[in-house]
Amino acid sequence: MSAPVFDYLRRYRFKKVVLCNDTEIGLRAVIAIHSTALGPATGGLRMWTYPSEEAAIMDALRLARGMTYKYAAAGVNLGGGKAVIIGDPRKDKSEALLRAMGRMIDQLGGEYITGEDVGTTLEDMETVYSETDHVVTLPEHAGGAGDISPATALGSIQAMRACAERAWGTPELGGKRVALQGLGVVGSKALGMLVEAGAEVIVADIDEEKVEKALQEFQVKAVDPEDIYAQEVDIFAPYALGAVINDDTIPRLKAKIVAGAANNILAEERHGDELERRGIVYAVDFVANSGGTVFDTDRYRKGGFQPERAMANVRRIFERIEEIFAIADRDRIPYYGAAERLAEERIEAMNKVRLLGRPDTAHY
Ligand code: NAD
Repeated sequence: MSAPVFDYLRRYRFKKVVLCNDTEIGLRAVIAIHSTALGPATGGLRMWTYPSEEAAIMDALRLARGMTYKYAAAGVNLGGGKAVIIGDPRKDKSEALLRAMGRMIDQLGGEYITGEDVGTTLEDMETVYSETDHVVTLPEHAGGAGDISPATALGSIQAMRACAERAWGTPELGGKRVALQGLGVVGSKALGMLVEAGAEVIVADIDEEKVEKALQEFQVKAVDPEDIYAQEVDIFAPYALGAVINDDTIPRLKAKIVAGAANNILAEERHGDELERRGIVYAVDFVANSGGTVFDTDRYRKGGFQPERAMANVRRIFERIEEIFAIADRDRIPYYGAAERLAEERIEAMNKVRLLGRPDTAHY
């Protein structure tokens, strides 16, 4: 492992990183545990063809840290973690591989709880679950909340509405032009919600089948993936992968709002400053995309999983984003900094509670 990884661990106070290998099965994976201050480190299991091993490790680290902040800001008593399997989910995924990963997770004894993510499905989680209890996203028949992507999509649209209110004084999305990047499980549902709200949507995906499906289903326009940034739109909505707001893309943006469900939207924090400088309202990713998390962790609340209560809390993402704007205005800091402050204030408060005695994290 090269120096930048350890620099990153020190700088952001990581608890640990586990490198997993199973030569026979061909498993190469990373489990990053950022923090367990509020509860077990929790976050999805991603499978992706990374350009290098270091890229995979850095992705796991960035995503794990995002999870700590996401749970803290969303008011959920869990810590931040993330796992990635290096490989092509369409070619390299097998029952043996997923079960080997499940055993790796089980060896951590509950310090890390996994879930579905880019490149893995709920069915994959059931396979992982056959080797370890430490799985949060599961199908309904296995005791889970089922598909969380509608909740993630709804939460991100609520975040977009809060941004619209800040930018234009009204949360209405009717008539707004939106450039939507990524038509995966979340992006496709967000598309349906945007069309229903009366927005004019332009879509892009590297998967032509998904673009074709969107064109057949809705009255939308499609552009090449590289052209999505420069569209004449009011809102840029990232629903694909991270680091899409960077030196290369910011000068191309014409939108007044950046809001979507992708994780780690900013390549670096300074890109958040640059959005601010250009007067672009940004729905901080880890709060904007916390809907699925708020929804499926409801089963740890008193009385077990209650879908209506869970969805009501997902809708409150609107207020969470407003809270971020209020902190940003109060402390004169960028939005991403305000969201982190919101999360840090909560972790700090919980640590104070811990001084008085460990809180019961079974119900919150
Ligand atoms: P997904 O794999 O179903 O969808 C991602 C889509 O992006 C795919 O259709 C893929 O072809 C497309 N894509 C990849 N690179 C692209 C590019 N350069 N340009 C255009 N499209 C591209 O994943 P998902 O579950 O819909 O998640 C989307 C994003 O939201 C991810 O960043 C994920 O981490 C985040 N997220 C998802 C959830 C959830 O509930 N699934 C929750 C929180 C955050």
